[in-house]
Amino acid sequence: MKTTIVGINWGDEGKGRMVDLLSEKYDIVCRYQGGNNAGHTVVNHKGKFILNLLPSGILREGVVNVMGSGMVIDIQHLTEEIQRLKDAGIAIAPENLKISDRAVITMPYNILQDCLEEERLADKKFGSTKKGIAPVYADKYLKKSFRMGELKNFATMKKRIADIVAWKNLTIEKAYANKAIQTADIVAYFEKYGLHFVDYICDTGLYLTEASKQNKNILFEAQLGALRDIDFGIYPYTSSSSTISAYAPIGAGAPNLKIDNSIGIMKAYSTCVGEGPFVAEYHGDKAEELRIAGGEYGAVTKRPRRVGPFDAVASKYGIRCQGATEIALTKLDVLSRYKEIEICIAYAYKEQELTKKFPFTDLLEDCKPIYRKVKGWNCDISKCRTWESLPKEAQDYILYLERLCDCKIKYISVGAEREAYIERK
Ligand code: GDP
Ligand code: MG
Repeated sequence: MKTTIVGINWGDEGKGRMVDLLSEKYDIVCRYQGGNNAGHTVVNHKGKFILNLLPSGILREGVVNVMGSGMVIDIQHLTEEIQRLKDAGIAIAPENLKISDRAVITMPYNILQDCLEEERLADKKFGSTKKGIAPVYADKYLKKSFRMGELKNFATMKKRIADIVAWKNLTIEKAYANKAIQTADIVAYFEKYGLHFVDYICDTGLYLTEASKQNKNILFEAQLGALRDIDFGIYPYTSSSSTISAYAPIGAGAPNLKIDNSIGIMKAYSTCVGEGPFVAEYHGDKAEELRIAGGEYGAVTKRPRRVGPFDAVASKYGIRCQGATEIALTKLDVLSRYKEIEICIAYAYKEQELTKKFPFTDLLEDCKPIYRKVKGWNCDISKCRTWESLPKEAQDYILYLERLCDCKIKYISVGAEREAYIERK
């Protein structure tokens, strides 16, 4: 069985939490895109962990974790992330962590570029996480980046460094008037943070293909959500990678593999980090109440997340882009405080009422949310573990979202901890 776990919304839906839960049934968990701009929170009996680069299966013994070729890897960050987990007693070795030789290395100068560009943009900034993600993906497509596999042949890799540094300084020094970067520093950087990964680096495509032949179960873990996808999201307010389920085999390094099902992680209300159009957005006290109730502060940036009610128009589009076969609805418990709950069921655009079509990005600014109020349950549901134990109003809320989105809601998450969920039969 090959399954993707993907975001239906703008990210931070609780993918890490669902991967940690569902990885019990899988042999391999594979991250296939993005970098350490991800913040996947996992809470289980081992503690609370925020994973940025490591797949969320790393906390399960017996699960092999793969970092795929579609990823961009900050080797200093990965070194430190692994150390943090080792300090917490988690075993990490080449037996349970495989890094694609084709994955690209996020360089310190990419982070610098990211910061310099946000500074230049000033009040027009994108709200980048400043982890160098856009610059490193740009370098990848310009064919000027370093890949993990090169570390295995460091003598050859070293010969490329001076040329890349000279090219990069055209931007850093000449365009941004910043201090030039030095070849010796880059060599030292690879020596300190790169070379110790040599035993982890392999052809993950070959590994996954062999595993598939042996009928191993593989879970592909996405970062961010459909609305932040580089092609299908609210460009240019997107990330720089493909967050889409269909990209999983490619980004894993095994384009030959076929996905059997796609579990869309969908939040019971909406949140978004950074800039860009966000039609159903709450402001003021209303926003603050939901933000505090949901603890909506970025796992990576600590920035307050923008919040709003569930958005059926955006979610339906997310489900379509992800080809979701089933949904895990997360953070339902956060809505327990409300006597009435608003849902954005449509967008008003000029004279039209849009329900099916998610508009092109520049039209979103002119869309107004159309809300419908439903009855809340207004009691604690965090201990509920069966469908029957949920109050009728909570069941109705779920069933209504299911009808609006036309996709089966199979899992309902009512808390951050591994066991705090309901599986519908
Ligand atoms: P991800 O990036 O999609 O993995 O999600 P994040 O980890 O960035 O954000 C989800 C946040 O909600 C984390 O702090 C989780 O611990 C928390 N969380 C996940 N599921 C639930 C839930 O059902 N209820 C509550 N209250 N918190 C949850
Ligand atoms: Mg997150």
